Amino acid sequence: MNNHLLAAYRYTSNNWALIQGSKLCGCCNCVEIFPADEIVGWTGLDMNNMDDPAAIDKQTAMCPRCGTEAVLGDKSGYPINAQFLSSMNEAWFQQTIIRPAKPKA
Ligand SMILES: [Zn+2]
Repeated sequence: MNNHLLAAYRYTSNNWALIQGSKLCGCCNCVEIFPADEIVGWTGLDMNNMDDPAAIDKQTAMCPRCGTEAVLGDKSGYPINAQFLSSMNEAWFQQTIIRPAKPKA
């Protein structure tokens, strides 16, 4: 797999600030492209840290189309287009980057 794809994955999590600075975003799961302001779902906050600015900064965007935490913003410097998202998608499903959920005890 290309290293730049691996590097780009870093920007699909804890990317609140990055998405705020982006105009266009794309999803590596469903390969849809959408404006950053369509993103309304975020993960990472709960009752204990919702007032913590550092925690707010570490929220992860959820795709407005498919709900997956695989959103890349153009502020990352990576191209937001179908071709790039497709190669990210291939990498996503081919490899290692997704840690499997821990089995329930
Ligand atoms: Zn999606």
